[in-house]
Amino acid sequence: MTETATTPPGVTPTEVPTFRHFIAGEWTDSTSGTTFESHNPADERDIIGRFQQGTAADVAMAVSAAWAARPMWQRTPAPKRGEIMFAFAYLMAEHKERLARAMTREMGKVLSEARGDVQEGIDIAYLMAGEGRRMSGETVPSELPDKWAMSIRQPIGIAGIITPWNFPMAIPCWKIMPALVTGNVVIFKPASDTPHCATLLVELMAEAGFPPGVVNLITGGGAEVGDAIVDNPDIGVISFTGSSTTGRSISVKAGQRLKRLSLELGGKNGVVVLKDADLDLAADGILWSAFGTTGQRCTACSRVIVDRVVAEPLLERLETRARKLRLGSGLDETTDVGPLINADAVDKVASYIDIGNGEGELVTGGGRATTGDLTHGHFFEPTIFAGVGPMDRIGQEEIFGPVLSVIPVDGYNEAMLALNQTRYGLSSSIYTQDVNTAFRAMRDFETGIVYVNAGTTGAETHLPFGGWKETGNGHREAGHVALDTYTEWKSIYVDFSGRLQRAQIDNQ
Ligand code: NDP
Repeated sequence: MTETATTPPGVTPTEVPTFRHFIAGEWTDSTSGTTFESHNPADERDIIGRFQQGTAADVAMAVSAAWAARPMWQRTPAPKRGEIMFAFAYLMAEHKERLARAMTREMGKVLSEARGDVQEGIDIAYLMAGEGRRMSGETVPSELPDKWAMSIRQPIGIAGIITPWNFPMAIPCWKIMPALVTGNVVIFKPASDTPHCATLLVELMAEAGFPPGVVNLITGGGAEVGDAIVDNPDIGVISFTGSSTTGRSISVKAGQRLKRLSLELGGKNGVVVLKDADLDLAADGILWSAFGTTGQRCTACSRVIVDRVVAEPLLERLETRARKLRLGSGLDETTDVGPLINADAVDKVASYIDIGNGEGELVTGGGRATTGDLTHGHFFEPTIFAGVGPMDRIGQEEIFGPVLSVIPVDGYNEAMLALNQTRYGLSSSIYTQDVNTAFRAMRDFETGIVYVNAGTTGAETHLPFGGWKETGNGHREAGHVALDTYTEWKSIYVDFSGRLQRAQIDNQ
């Protein structure tokens, strides 16, 4: 197992460890002969490691290894595949604190949230390991006598897994576990901002006993490695989470090859607060959803649609509490809000402050945070805009940072229309004490996830996760339905009548 670098933030280590690809059960160098660095977003001087700058040739090698391992893995009984997955889950649980600390250092989210990210990985590993003994098809009566009719799931083959940096362990596990338990082999390309998290996960997968070639890791840029995965004709299914822009381009390429493709893209998630809401509870949920993970969750709340009657008292609560949030390194247990992922993210968020100043009223925040310990990191103040219109750009576009727009409306119907007036449809929430209104919202909100009297984040691994409209392309992760992405259905008919029976003809 490679060493987890333990350099404290702010100190550049003399020895920066170099990490390798994992192909056919071996840790190997890229054919490029070059590496790239991963840095701590709370302190750019802290270099976590050097990682292989992967190439299309590396992807081709990984595909060969996966192809060779495929028949053996497919023929391994699913409960046995599940047993290895249980071993992986136990290892993740054993190493939870080490993984969480490494994640905070590389990705920036505060330690309590990093522990939650690892826990999501453990939870999905347990859930999918159990699928090794469930994975049911259907057995149905045949329309003809002495004939058996049933369906089974079979693996697609090689799964290409392309993941973002914001949940650097949970999201890979959400994709890799259902792919493996159903008998697929995997080529995993993590985000270039979080290759260390990916390496640590794959180390544990190897230790758990997934055979050589079953899981292969290639690091490197999206345009080279990601594109080579999407374009490879032997990779039958792609699962991608990331930006809508990249998702669209992958969609075109995968479409040309008629590949199975699961996309989890952006969100512009709203919380509706009605006049009968518990405003303290709503403020707590909104702040956690808006500024947790520094607003970089796909389910983050970036719009509050509030009944005008309670807009002012809600804003007061939000402003007071937002001002108290403490920025800093996520490794410090007293930090509430960590850094953004990188300098580009800070620039993107800052550009939306300029846009917001022309659309709403800046209530708090609005600037980069660069004082004291924050000097070398990518910090941004938790920001709230009031008086935003539902169709304003800051109320419509995914910012992916700590920026919250408050949109005043009159009553439930207007709130519901404003909530649905977006091209995304991942998560939504309503705060109300009225059970009838809550049920209306559950029916009316056009999102894949709806919360009642809770914020927009906190999906649990045993229910489907995904969004409507431009948030995705109709697939779901997690839950039992996650198996659909990685399997083909086979319908089987067994005729034991000993004579020719013709369906749709002999049963007239
Ligand atoms: P990207 O969509 O560019 O990156 C996501 C993953 O796709 C990474 O592994 C990336 O690799 C890879 N990738 C990039 N280009 C290609 C390509 N042409 N073919 C195949 N794979 C590719 O997102 P960013 O990290 O650049 O973030 C930008 C914005 O995307 C954020 O501000 C946010 O709005 C949104 N986003 C949404 C997420 C969500 O959970 N819905 C998660 C992350 C981002 P590499 O890292 O090497 O570029």
